[in-house]
Amino acid sequence: MLVEPERTTYDLHFRALGFPVRVHPWFWLGAVLLGANTLNEGIEFLAVWIAVVFVSILVHELGHAVAFRRFGADASVILYAFGGLAVPTNIVAGRGRRILVSLAGPFAGFLLAGLVYGTNAATEWGQSGDFGMPNGLLVWFLYKQLLWVNIVWGVFNLLPVFPLDGGQVSRELCGMKWGTRGKRVSLKISFGTALAVVAYALFCTIDARTGAGLLRDLPWWVPRGSIFTAILFGLLAYESYQLLQYRDWADDHWADDRTALDR
Ligand SMILES: [Zn+2]
Repeated sequence: MLVEPERTTYDLHFRALGFPVRVHPWFWLGAVLLGANTLNEGIEFLAVWIAVVFVSILVHELGHAVAFRRFGADASVILYAFGGLAVPTNIVAGRGRRILVSLAGPFAGFLLAGLVYGTNAATEWGQSGDFGMPNGLLVWFLYKQLLWVNIVWGVFNLLPVFPLDGGQVSRELCGMKWGTRGKRVSLKISFGTALAVVAYALFCTIDARTGAGLLRDLPWWVPRGSIFTAILFGLLAYESYQLLQYRDWADDHWADDRTALDR
């Protein structure tokens, strides 16, 4: 289940906005795995990718942490393989407040994407001249990935799939409507949504591999699923299925982000 990753001697510690941040060594490994294809362009592209993932997940978790603080709980942030956690010192009372805490992560990312987009629209820093310029292509890559990660991961995170942020919101909303039965309803929604994402991601993968091009006419900004997406959401579907087998589902799992797609 959602446990804090163990402390290691390779943890990186610092403070951001007054919150203690701990980076587990596997965070770097996860970022490298997710960005392995950038190595085709060069090692400097992988370095930029890792920086983008680091900043984006940190901003996402700080969004949660700021919301916790706003509602009277202090928090610490942990970045680890494929995601992050904002761990509050105490539970925030009230479904409405908990929903705001869950939404604060993705919306911090959307805010960052807005800043990136806005500053580029004003100064064109992302299109710094022609790509013949040293680092012109690298800066363009930085701009594109900052937008992509913060928007697409944010949107995936809002899917009503446990334990993503959207799954936490869905659970609170179902709890409002159906009381204690709401948890089970939200788990069923989570299971069904995760399976649908698996199907979509597999369809995208097969479409790309076979060159059928059925998705070619979709706008560029519609996220295509990969085999990685399929595996990830397959695991999440399985987890929801398992949780549905418990009769007494514990009520203390709402402050977590399991994945970067989250992440
Ligand atoms: Zn989150």
